[in-house]
Amino acid sequence: MIEPGTPIRAQQPRLALRTACIATAAVMAASSVLVPAAQAQESAPRGGGVPIIRDAETEQLLRDYARPILKVAGLAKQNVKVVIINDTQFNAFVMDGRHIFVNAGALMDTKTPNEMIGILAHETGHLAGGHLMRMRERLAAAQTQTIVAMLLGIGAMVATARSGGGVGIGGAMAPAEAIRRSLLAYARTQEDQADHAAVKFLTETHQSAKGLIDAFKRLSNESLFATQGANPYLQTHPFPQDRVATLETIAHASPYYNVKDPAALQLRHDLVRAKLFGFLDRPDTVARRYPMTDTSLPARYARAIATYRHSNMASALAQIDGLIQSEPNNPYFRELKGQVLLEGGKPALAVGPLRRAVQLAPDPALIEIMLAQAINASPDGTKHADEVVRLLRSAMTQEQDTPAIYAQLAIAYARKGDLAQADLASAKAAFYRGDRKNAEMLASRAKTRFPVGSPAWIQADDIVSAKPKPN
Ligand SMILES: [Zn+2]
Repeated sequence: MIEPGTPIRAQQPRLALRTACIATAAVMAASSVLVPAAQAQESAPRGGGVPIIRDAETEQLLRDYARPILKVAGLAKQNVKVVIINDTQFNAFVMDGRHIFVNAGALMDTKTPNEMIGILAHETGHLAGGHLMRMRERLAAAQTQTIVAMLLGIGAMVATARSGGGVGIGGAMAPAEAIRRSLLAYARTQEDQADHAAVKFLTETHQSAKGLIDAFKRLSNESLFATQGANPYLQTHPFPQDRVATLETIAHASPYYNVKDPAALQLRHDLVRAKLFGFLDRPDTVARRYPMTDTSLPARYARAIATYRHSNMASALAQIDGLIQSEPNNPYFRELKGQVLLEGGKPALAVGPLRRAVQLAPDPALIEIMLAQAINASPDGTKHADEVVRLLRSAMTQEQDTPAIYAQLAIAYARKGDLAQADLASAKAAFYRGDRKNAEMLASRAKTRFPVGSPAWIQADDIVSAKPKPN
């Protein structure tokens, strides 16, 4: 069963909608300094990294939303990735210039593709404006963790405790408040710039900024009635009263203001939202949101997933078969069937639906990993070891640092009798899991099996010398 916040386990990965931890040095480093929107929510990076969601369908949708926007923003070649954070609160932010982070809650809250695309356009505005670097420079000047923490809304007490407890709060308050105001004013300027950039990007891609305005209006209305704690997005994106009015004026000037999302895209959006609700919400909430009287595809999708999470495999499979009948060419219904069977202990039965899902999906890397896992776990897995290697090599072109790839690859190579490659793959699996000790041990053993100086030997040697990344 997939629960919010469950970190991925390397040996038994939860694939389709699964969670993982980003613990890369870059992200962790970025998260320890303030950036305009890397925020003070409870789920913010702490120790083990950010809990993220990996899901082929959701990622594909966000890529399709972001691609045209990034292109007109001049960021097509920067390989900017949209990362989904396992958090049901609305938030979206940028951290390091290469990622746009979107909470699952932002997708769950946006009613149309246009709203989500608007949010992405705004975040792209921050990226294109180089706001991160400039904010960091300002922070470097401000320096103290107390001020950063106050700006983040964590509270001075926490920061004092973290910085060793020696800093008196009273004495630091007055200058801190002045600096906080100056930084907030600076952040507001950045928000205005990002809004303007968003409208420009949306207009250049012949899309409306109406969704962005609708999302902002809803957020600020909700915050008026919030009983405890402000919405994290509003904390990170200062929201003066006149901001929406300014945005509306420039948005209305666009000839594309009344453009509607294509119906097919709206359906994809609704399916992704249904999937996230199905996986992340309580079953009774899912039942209320998607009552049996709602026979739409998204409602049936959400109910099938909630049923599966209830461990009622037979009923879930019957519902998923119904979905496949309605849309035989939807790769993600097949993927879900494969996932239910695989996690239900029937890997051999999962292989068929997953093979079909791989054929149908535009970017099947994550599904290829699950298929490899299903084949490896099947009674006749040994016979198909070559197919497993092929699948994982293909997945690797997109997912270089996913431990599950190397764990499954090690099994297939061992079955083929290639112990050198099996050791190297096991070493990489350990390395990407963060298990440096085993990684080094396995890589040292792999080195003895390859000709000295060969490409595989060099990869093993990189792990032994604990360079940041093998490959
Ligand atoms: Zn912003």
